[in-house]
Amino acid sequence: MRITFWGVRGSIPTPGRETAEIGGNTSCVEVRAGKLILVLDGGTGLRLLGQKLLKEMPLTAHIFFSHVHWDHIQGFPFFAPAFVSGNSIHLYGLSDVSRTLEDTLAGQMDYPSFPVHLSQMGAAMTFRDLREGQIVRLDDGEGSELTVRLTRGNHPNGVSIYRVDHRGKSMVYATDTEHYAVVDPRLVAISQNSDVLVYDSQYTPEEYAQRLGWGHSTFEEGVKIARAAGVKKLVLYHHDPNQTDAMVRDKERRARELFESSLAAYEGLILEP
Ligand SMILES: [Zn+2]
Ligand SMILES: [Zn+2]
Repeated sequence: MRITFWGVRGSIPTPGRETAEIGGNTSCVEVRAGKLILVLDGGTGLRLLGQKLLKEMPLTAHIFFSHVHWDHIQGFPFFAPAFVSGNSIHLYGLSDVSRTLEDTLAGQMDYPSFPVHLSQMGAAMTFRDLREGQIVRLDDGEGSELTVRLTRGNHPNGVSIYRVDHRGKSMVYATDTEHYAVVDPRLVAISQNSDVLVYDSQYTPEEYAQRLGWGHSTFEEGVKIARAAGVKKLVLYHHDPNQTDAMVRDKERRARELFESSLAAYEGLILEP
């Protein structure tokens, strides 16, 4: 399994000199396993991934959205492979009572907010609205199966937390989730013995004290889950837009004091569990 981080910022893109090292694009992670192309979230980092994937066409990609807040979908209208016929794109999201994933993705491209509508994009697209506890099974094209499981996190309007398993390796993608007074048993269960836990570490504990109920968490809480679930590597993710490179590095340093195998996600980071 190869995991590449294309966007690691939360809430809004943050270009500029102060954030150039960590990167300013919003949530997008690529997971390659066998011949499979998986994408977790379509924030602005998805545009860069799309440019790379142009060299691999015709392609089939599976994009799993944690939820449909802007910082997780805004890259999709700029995902170049979606405009090319012959490509197949499967899109997955947590089912919502009011709107389907397709409606929401199309909504951000509605007139007059965007010049091209979703239905004019060119690639073949399928949409799957997933339920909590559902398991998606995909053939990796090399004789093995990859599974994606999901559970719910704690976030305004809902969020899905995904676990990807392939050939004995695993990663958990837990962004945009706020911790509780007790360690979230669903998060511990889904993270059990995973190689990599990507965790919403938007705030320092001091910042979090001013942001209760905003749906985000801290590196300290990520460490609690990593310990409780026997996680091998903790990746701090979804950095706050107000955090400079130095502030993210400081968060990383503090996390390492608590859990040695911690690191702050940055654009271009590649992990191969
Ligand atoms: Zn977010
Ligand atoms: Zn969100």
